[in-house]
Amino acid sequence: METIQIEDKDFEILLENDQINKRTRLIGIQLNVDYETRCPIIIGVLNGSFMFMADLLREIDVACEIAFIRVSSYNGTSTTGSVKEAFGLPDNLHNRDIILVEDIVDTGTTLKYILEKVHSQQPSSVKVCSLLFKPSALLEPIPELEYVGFEIPNEFVVGYGLDYNGLGRNLKDIYRATIPA
Ligand code: 5GP
Repeated sequence: METIQIEDKDFEILLENDQINKRTRLIGIQLNVDYETRCPIIIGVLNGSFMFMADLLREIDVACEIAFIRVSSYNGTSTTGSVKEAFGLPDNLHNRDIILVEDIVDTGTTLKYILEKVHSQQPSSVKVCSLLFKPSALLEPIPELEYVGFEIPNEFVVGYGLDYNGLGRNLKDIYRATIPA
């Protein structure tokens, strides 16, 4: 089993690039069918989604517009202990079909925040496509989460866009942190 080390952590393979590409192709086919007669705005959530977004869009052949947003989170003084801000959300979402593309849905907090901002513009539909989903970490259901690449256990993963302390985003495969002996 191939293992890698990033700073103080060891990681082992969870999903190989080949598997990711095959699944991405299938999601692309599904989106081509579901959006055949529409022109969705596909919005990637940076940074983690950049690689999935690029590979997914190569599989999509319906007319579509592309945008990226960035969500920053930092410790603040709210009751949740975290305040977030979204940069770059397009302001023309009214009456449009929106597909949000995420790298991973963990607790769902980030996604809930973005969805609130998106819905406030009254688009005609909103769906979420996430490469990874940790169902056991989710705090409340997200009805918009329609397209999921892989459901994974509640473990820390890295690679294919996802980072550990800023490193590892360029890895082709997805790795999970090994539990220290
Ligand atoms: P949530 O708000 O759903 O708890 O977390 C979403 C964000 O947390 C993701 O977009 C990602 O940036 C980060 N995240 C959650 N789980 C992981 C993980 O296992 N690995 C990495 N690298 N980032 C994660």
